[in-house]
Amino acid sequence: MTPRSPGRRLVLLGATGSIGTQTLEVLQRHPDVARVHGLAVGGGRPELAAAQVLESRPERLAISDPARAETVERAVLAACAGAGVRAPRIEAGPAAVVDLAGALGAEDVVLNAITGSVGLLPTLAALSSGARLALANKESLVVGGELVTAAAAEGQILPVDSEHTAIAQALAGVRHDQIDHLEVTASGGPFRGRTREQLRAVTPEQALAHPTWSMGRVITTNSATLVNKALEVIEACYQFALPEERVRVVVHPQSIVHSMVTLVDGSTIAQASPPDMRHAIGWALAHPEKLPGLATPLDFSAAQTWTFEPVDEETFPAIALARAAHREGGGAMAVYNAVNEEAVDAFFDGSLSFLGITALIEEVLALPDRPRVGRADGVEGLLALETWARDAARTLLAARES
Ligand code: NAD
Ligand code: MG
Repeated sequence: MTPRSPGRRLVLLGATGSIGTQTLEVLQRHPDVARVHGLAVGGGRPELAAAQVLESRPERLAISDPARAETVERAVLAACAGAGVRAPRIEAGPAAVVDLAGALGAEDVVLNAITGSVGLLPTLAALSSGARLALANKESLVVGGELVTAAAAEGQILPVDSEHTAIAQALAGVRHDQIDHLEVTASGGPFRGRTREQLRAVTPEQALAHPTWSMGRVITTNSATLVNKALEVIEACYQFALPEERVRVVVHPQSIVHSMVTLVDGSTIAQASPPDMRHAIGWALAHPEKLPGLATPLDFSAAQTWTFEPVDEETFPAIALARAAHREGGGAMAVYNAVNEEAVDAFFDGSLSFLGITALIEEVLALPDRPRVGRADGVEGLLALETWARDAARTLLAARES
């Protein structure tokens, strides 16, 4: 039996992506968790957006890319007319997504599954509306950590990231002063065990072959460089109010133990389940209820081995770079993330090597004229810094090509 949340509404941002589609699958199996009020999509998959509208019948649809809005709108209107159902109110542009993110209230939930720091403004809008924020868009917490945590009420953000969802579960009944440190697990990605020399010529196709998770393009590439783990360390610092030296990383290639908490008394609490993001999604939507049958339970009647090993920090410098940037503050993590987003695009269009991704982050962070921002500069200051970082990255990339 599914726990009832009478009247709870959901706004789903990034509906046609990997997390977005899995969220709708969870709702299909557990329709009483929430009623879909609005969907926001980028605009790249019009037919999928139309099918989602037919299936979940939202009142509103926001399309972030104005250049694709007409195509999406046409597909949605045709599908609705064909099925004889009322079409949602359709709006286009990034501001429409932010507006939708802030449209609900304290009884409701916004699931932010947008990729990239473009998710920051919708995150802030959702928080100021008072709705629960189920947060897959880790970039908004990493980039705007101070602003986002200052805007969030206690318990308002529920992480939708297998590691952080695991830690939140392990922390049930634990006081903050009883935590010694967190152990964030990492699969190690497709290139675990390789040397830098062996990584020189890897291609985007090889980087996209993740051993345990099927995800969007950016996060999959980030898993190969370990930038994803680096972002997750900082995400954990803000989500659980801990300094970075108390957030450790351990490689666990099976991706069964999703993370652990070691307490001051020396015991370690782990959360384990098969790798399936629908568990993290359903947990965040239904908390504190538990949705029956959300994950397939582990079967211990079959022999299995779970292994743990340290990260090869020499081959994968991404985590150490992020720790240093986070310690420095002043928006350095916003620079880190923005340069990474540019670098991933350059890697896919063939103008940057795999090892060049973290090298570019390091290079931009080391620029002597890098601006610093503080909380007083607000979100505008942060966005201006991001623009500076993207420009700096593009300038360095252009110089490499010429
Ligand atoms: P994805 O690329 O599959 O999907 C992202 C979606 O967001 C796309 O459909 C895109 O069209 C849409 N989008 C982009 N800009 C938008 C905007 N301004 N407004 C509305 N929609 C917009 O990515 P994903 O793998 O689903 O990841 C989404 C987020 O969740 C990322 O931050 C990622 O790090 C995080 N996450 C993903 C997984 C996973 O298993 N996929 C696990 C943990 C965390
Ligand atoms: Mg994760």
